Amino acid sequence: MMGAMESVPVTADLTLMRELNQALILNLVRQEGQISRAEIAKRTNLSRSTVSNIVNELIGAGRIFEIQKGESRGGRRPILLELNYRSHCVIGVEIATAFVNLVVSDLNAVILYQCCVPFDIGVGPDVTVARVQDLIQGGLSAVGINPSQVAGVGIGIPGPLYYAAGQIIAPPIMPGWNGVALRDLFETVLPFPVVVDNDANLGAIAEYRLGAAQGIRNVAYIYLGSAGIGGGLVLNGAIYRGEIGSAGEIGHLTIDEDGPPCTCGSFGCLEAVAGMPTVLRRAAELFGGQRMTLDQLVEEAHSGTEAVQALFVSSAKYVGIAVASLLNVCNPGLVVLGGPFSAAGDLLLETVRSTARKRALPIALKHCEIVAGALGANAVALGAASQIIQMVFSPTTLDTLVGQL
Ligand SMILES: [Zn+2]
Repeated sequence: MMGAMESVPVTADLTLMRELNQALILNLVRQEGQISRAEIAKRTNLSRSTVSNIVNELIGAGRIFEIQKGESRGGRRPILLELNYRSHCVIGVEIATAFVNLVVSDLNAVILYQCCVPFDIGVGPDVTVARVQDLIQGGLSAVGINPSQVAGVGIGIPGPLYYAAGQIIAPPIMPGWNGVALRDLFETVLPFPVVVDNDANLGAIAEYRLGAAQGIRNVAYIYLGSAGIGGGLVLNGAIYRGEIGSAGEIGHLTIDEDGPPCTCGSFGCLEAVAGMPTVLRRAAELFGGQRMTLDQLVEEAHSGTEAVQALFVSSAKYVGIAVASLLNVCNPGLVVLGGPFSAAGDLLLETVRSTARKRALPIALKHCEIVAGALGANAVALGAASQIIQMVFSPTTLDTLVGQL
């Protein structure tokens, strides 16, 4: 009995050591692009035989491959190692209130397949899970990928969640979803690991790792959705979730004390006064009840219709007020606007900038720009995919032993 118990830490030590070394080498190859075995040994302080053993295992598993390159100095050309980004693929899904956007990408976040379909989140969790499952299968067949090559699925949703449990809690714009353990639901039908996160958090992660905010350690991302307004904060180079996982809900900052009721139960929230549904509703009032799409409205504004331009300016002013508060509280180095409503582009951006400039503290405005996202409509899905990629390059045993890092 005692012997068996004593053997546990030893096994864990060896497994952990092996996985740490493997992750160390994989990440070094990923970072350098191409590198020799000798250089790996030098950079990691691992012995040449340890490097050789692990590299051979990784080559056997199809994770890295050898290429002959570099200058020949009289003898053989050195053999370099390169990562095989196509050894696995990952899936990123954005479930929005009115559409589902899905990407299949390689381990370098290069999109191999993408589709966006209309959808109504009001159909509830079970129908949603089945629909997303179909879309995943369709995507995998379209690119000819075997499910065994899928490293995992990341899913973004337009509501706050208890992150550790993947459970949605009282989401204002997802009626019928309160308490739904979405990660568990997906994991019962999909043979892959599943990560569920808030859409704006994933947009922030995507712009930070792959898009407009690369190299900036403090970033505020504002998701201007077709229904709500969300926020994601990258602070000191890591997504900030708060105590449970609901941090960043900028859409529910009170902007107007006596403002209209919000879906969250409060009044005068940013989302209620400046969200896309409010702008579209006011536009319909301008045109005798005729509903217009965002694209039509943007066209109308660009063609010089001042009343429509004023709608965008009004909305952008409120967003700018919220951004000014965010600057004062968080001192980000970059504010990124993303999401479907941000497709209105400069009709919003200039006013958000000028309003924030008028209201934020000078010190918070220093070294901070307000820009449009670089990843467009795929930001959230790519952020979801990149969370799985992050998992692939992390030592799993360490995660299990230490918990959420
Ligand atoms: Zn609210």
